[in-house]
Amino acid sequence: MRRISSSLISQRLATTAITSTRASVRTLRSTHSEASRPAVTTLSEDEEMLRSSVEQFARERIGPKVRSMDEKSELEPALVKECFEQGLMGIEIPQQYGGGGMSFMSAILAIEEVAKVDGSVSVFMDNTLVNNAVIRWGTEKQKEQWLPRLAQDTVGSFCLSEWSCGSDAFALKATAKKDGDGYLLNGTKAWITNSKEAGLFLVMATVDPSAGHRGITTFLIDKNTPGISIGKKEDKLGIRASSTCEVVLENCRVPASQVLGEVGKGYKIAIETLNEGRIGIGAQMLGVAEGCFDHTMKYINERKAFNSSIADFQGVQFQYASMYSDILAAKLMVYNAARLKEAGQPFVIDAAIAKLRASEVAEKVASLCINLMGGVGFTKEFPVEKYFRDCKIGQIYEGTSNIQLQTIAKYIQQQYK
Ligand SMILES: Cc1cc2nc3c(=O)[nH]c(=O)nc-3n(C[C@H](O)[C@H](O)[C@H](O)COP(=O)(O)OP(=O)(O)OC[C@H]3O[C@@H](n4cnc5c(N)ncnc54)[C@H](O)[C@@H]3O)c2cc1C
Repeated sequence: MRRISSSLISQRLATTAITSTRASVRTLRSTHSEASRPAVTTLSEDEEMLRSSVEQFARERIGPKVRSMDEKSELEPALVKECFEQGLMGIEIPQQYGGGGMSFMSAILAIEEVAKVDGSVSVFMDNTLVNNAVIRWGTEKQKEQWLPRLAQDTVGSFCLSEWSCGSDAFALKATAKKDGDGYLLNGTKAWITNSKEAGLFLVMATVDPSAGHRGITTFLIDKNTPGISIGKKEDKLGIRASSTCEVVLENCRVPASQVLGEVGKGYKIAIETLNEGRIGIGAQMLGVAEGCFDHTMKYINERKAFNSSIADFQGVQFQYASMYSDILAAKLMVYNAARLKEAGQPFVIDAAIAKLRASEVAEKVASLCINLMGGVGFTKEFPVEKYFRDCKIGQIYEGTSNIQLQTIAKYIQQQYK
């Protein structure tokens, strides 16, 4: 039985229909019609049930905690527990391992809904990165060991970046030296999301520095393994409740049985995991833009100036109409990339474009929303300033915007050779 069904979805069905307070772009969704090819925004019954359940959870359970978690720069432990209880951390993990057994698109919809309320919690529940790497490359034994934990109570961290190499990630310096039937890992991983809460670290290190990217290997490391520790915590502009810390490896001994995939294939695992992950970041940025837009529209409809509501001025109408169309464009790109990935079709370029554009849209929307809110938009009385802070990360992590452009440009060049 899917935990999602037995928690969020069943709650949703048991309650009377909840009227949406959001005049967001989702109004374009319609019921699936067999007669015509559905739009990428057309959700299946399962997808819509999950989406509306997560929307309710985010509004009721996350919403009241957002401001204090941002101020304290930490996720509330009770909320972390609730995310697991509601099945949000293992949406895609097959049911045989205790997960929701749902689709990639479902996970994307959940990230979007949570990001409408809080960008930090949305990146926290984007456990998808680690979950999917284990699902895809894990041996049966590794899956049995880790997937039930990842679905039930264990947060995963993806540890690739280092201080000396972010965009050029495969120039990494962390080493994994053969030691009997295992490896001794040394080095420092930087900027690691969820590291404070994590129970499993997916660490990329090289078994042979002279082999370039061909030496990179991925290790599954339990947080209780001697030699792994959490270092400096970053004091960030946005997504402040999401933990970002160093992960320090000092003679950390990992048995060979915890190599994910093959020795020397860590490059492929990292790149393919990030290709998928970019759709998740696109969804996060889409949600941030939608949440910010929603708060702003409510305010400018009520706020009066010159005996009129701010939303009635034509100059303002053009601005929110433009934002709305930008958000829809981002949504179509994110959903299309997710649908392609789910259908097993090539999606890498679509994912890069979706992340690039969704993060640009989020920044543009959040900035303009502050303008439209006037003075209060610049204060912490309203959440718009937080969306503005949270949106910047979309252009940095899982490949900066320039790195996405590089991927897209390489693809275009190939078409003309
Ligand atoms: C909040 C946060 C969370 C993160 N979470 C994780 C995580 O969980 N796991 C993880 O492994 N990493 C994580 N990262 C690291 C993140 O992926 C890197 O910060 C990112 O890849 C950029 O690397 P960098 O910071 O070293 O920037 P640099 O690589 O130094 O880049 C600086 C600038 O130069 C540009 N640039 C670099 N190379 C080129 C080029 N060839 N052409 C054009 N422009 C170029 C970049 O686009 C950027 O604008 C996180 C970072 C942050 C800030």
